[in-house]
Amino acid sequence: MSEAPETLRYCHCESCKKLSGGAATVNGRVPSKAIRILEGEELLQTFEPPGGSGKTFCLACGSNLFGGGWPESETCSVRATAIDDPFDARPSAHIFVRSLAAWETLPDDGLERFETTSG
Ligand SMILES: [Zn+2]
Repeated sequence: MSEAPETLRYCHCESCKKLSGGAATVNGRVPSKAIRILEGEELLQTFEPPGGSGKTFCLACGSNLFGGGWPESETCSVRATAIDDPFDARPSAHIFVRSLAAWETLPDDGLERFETTSG
């Protein structure tokens, strides 16, 4: 990745719950062209949820890597868990809080909250 994400957001949408097995994914927004696959491109698989954007994961280990329609979209979401090198960005918001599960409680962390995206 040639650009580190500037901000991270927790996404609580239904797709992210299914993909993560938890309450949310943590994502950084970067230009799709900032991502270069160095090896294992043949192991990437993209799931296109109805009415949503493509989510890409690894067929070998199941890791959730990209969302937001990578690689066709201008910008995409990189899952924070897919970035091995340390980086400074910290989550700044919770998005898709309209999709909170009955078993889910948002932390009182002072971060901005958005019903859907933050625009
Ligand atoms: Zn999501």
